[in-house]
Amino acid sequence: MGFFSKDIKTLDDLFVHTLRDIYYAEKQIVGALPKMIEKATAPELKAGFEKHLRETEGHVQRVEKVFDMHGVEAEEVDCPAIDGILEEADEVSGEVEDKNVLDAALIASAQAVEHYEMTRYGTLIAWAKQLGREDCASVLAQNLREEEATDKKLTDLAESRVNREAA
Ligand code: FE
Ligand code: FE
Repeated sequence: MGFFSKDIKTLDDLFVHTLRDIYYAEKQIVGALPKMIEKATAPELKAGFEKHLRETEGHVQRVEKVFDMHGVEAEEVDCPAIDGILEEADEVSGEVEDKNVLDAALIASAQAVEHYEMTRYGTLIAWAKQLGREDCASVLAQNLREEEATDKKLTDLAESRVNREAA
């Protein structure tokens, strides 16, 4: 189903479609993080990715809960945006030899992922509220808060240490 599919007629349809997009994205991220954990050198970065992998597994479950609350099937739709971000992350990190530079590249890629998730959750929360689903919005907001906290930790790690060591 393409983004401008005729199947999307109402804001509710759009909400469900976008929920299916982030559902697919979260599952792809669960699949991609182990490789990033393996490649990371700085112990804080490795630990941070490990923590976020566990959180991401929780994000999948929370999204499933929102499908259930909203009374729709938990289905995925292809999300070429997250596929592209993850593909690029894999390509760039495959080309970096220096361990410290590799950590800087991994952080940049991970932040692109977090920002994608943040934009999706921001939109979903606004639409859920507009649709009178404060309950769904508050579950989605739990995911958003963890993405934001992860993004901030990555910035702190890059600016306090990793970028300097990469330079
Ligand atoms: Fe997530
Ligand atoms: Fe995330």
